[in-house]
Amino acid sequence: MNEANHSAARVRELSHFIDGRRVSGTSGRLNDVYDPAQGRVTAQVPVADAAEVATAVAAAKTAFAQWSEVSPLERARLMFRFKALLDAHSDELAELITRDHGKLLEDAKGEVLRGIEIVEFACGIPNLLKTEFTDQSGGGTDSWNLRQPLGVAAGVTPFNFPMVVPCWMFVMAAATGNTFVLKPSERTPSASIRLAELFIEAGFPKGVFNVVHGDKSTVDALIAHPDVVAMSVVGSTPVAEYIYSESAKRGKRVQALGSAKNHLVVMPDANLDRAVDALINSAYGSAGERCMATSVAVAVGRIGDELVERLVPRVRALKIGDGKEPGLDMGPLISAAHRAKVTGYIEAGVAAGARLIVDGRGHTVPGHEDGFFLGGSLFDDVKTDMSIYREEIFGPVLSIVRVPDLASAIALVNAHELGNCVSLFTSDGGTARTFTRRIQAGMVGINIPSPVPSAWHSFGGWKRSLFGDHHAYGEEAVRFYTHYKSVMQRWPDEELAVAGQDN
Ligand code: NAD
Repeated sequence: MNEANHSAARVRELSHFIDGRRVSGTSGRLNDVYDPAQGRVTAQVPVADAAEVATAVAAAKTAFAQWSEVSPLERARLMFRFKALLDAHSDELAELITRDHGKLLEDAKGEVLRGIEIVEFACGIPNLLKTEFTDQSGGGTDSWNLRQPLGVAAGVTPFNFPMVVPCWMFVMAAATGNTFVLKPSERTPSASIRLAELFIEAGFPKGVFNVVHGDKSTVDALIAHPDVVAMSVVGSTPVAEYIYSESAKRGKRVQALGSAKNHLVVMPDANLDRAVDALINSAYGSAGERCMATSVAVAVGRIGDELVERLVPRVRALKIGDGKEPGLDMGPLISAAHRAKVTGYIEAGVAAGARLIVDGRGHTVPGHEDGFFLGGSLFDDVKTDMSIYREEIFGPVLSIVRVPDLASAIALVNAHELGNCVSLFTSDGGTARTFTRRIQAGMVGINIPSPVPSAWHSFGGWKRSLFGDHHAYGEEAVRFYTHYKSVMQRWPDEELAVAGQDN
């Protein structure tokens, strides 16, 4: 690392959280954690080796024996207490998120709220685990089903939602009677440790939720561990696919959510004010580092020129700065390396012949000259063979693709290998219905950008945006984190007793 960036004496060394307490790393390996707005190292995070992973998994396995026998009602009561603690500490959690990630404090507060909503959903776990019963499914026979916990589950999470994505996993896993080992992003690790502390403070037994920090080597140790029976992953498609295949090969249950390239289709009859607001918020909010960000605006028919005219001044006017300050539209990118990657895509777009009508390169923020800032960029005349169209950029870059009609818009979206979410702006119900039914993506918004499902629905994409067959949170999570068991029961002696033949 750059020693100059280490100058501030206040570089914290973070801990793992195993068996109910903070545990210092012993592998001797540390990674730097930056404040992206300052471009300065604020913490170092340990990288767990296989022995440390084994300690965490052993704690989770020991805890599973009792935790899996705790009644759903008692688990729900603990969830209520956890929710109250999250409410009380929401500002502190938001500050941790903003410091590691750089997103606006308002966005971080929104993230905390989305995490709390998962906990609120989990408070209903007694009802969610209620199963089906058939009286007299055959002569003297009853049938019903059970939903039983799997054992020790593990999770691997991305940098961009350091609270909400872990909550999708450990909250639902614990509510359904499993124990959990989380490997958070090494770039935004702080919130997960605070969550683990609050979980213990709420009264959950030690070992139910453990956190080990690290990188690929730590993930590989989790995959290789025979006592880890399920893996939940959210990250880029190559990483999701790798973890999916390596885990499935070892007989583990896996859900792996990957990258996104989200389209927002604007029909000629759309309310253009709303469509432009939606594009600005969903393409540039959080500097485009959201898996629900819009990356492609599909202008249908004659709307294209007016759309461009309205977007250009809005992109130029974006207020960019340190997320800790109020009144901004977006903060920095996560790292210098990621900024270089996004800049590389802009260069590739120009070289391929797309028209760069707003260029965000070289943007600086006074007083934050070392921060990882990039201005908003806008491309027109983007074609489907260009890398800026085909690949996920994960930065503040919006591409406009022009098509003649609805059928071409649907064909365009459906031909992309990724299918996380998609939006349509129109004022026609029939158009909306046709689009909703024919489009190949996991989440659809009609006159809504970035349609993140509520906590009691479920989240996930299609095609190469998701590997495995369960979406995250909601009832899909209850299914993912439990074994289905069908039971048939017959008591022949009882039948004899009723018939008066037992004496
Ligand atoms: P990433 O794929 O680099 O890392 C995700 C996690 O995997 C991290 O914990 C990281 O330590 C680990 N990891 C990285 N490389 C690995 C490897 N080779 N083997 C095993 N583990 C590895 O993703 P990121 O940059 O942290 O996050 C951004 C990505 O996540 C984007 O692609 C975004 O679309 C995606 N994402 C998807 C969703 C979704 O719901 N589909 C949600 C949020 C983010």
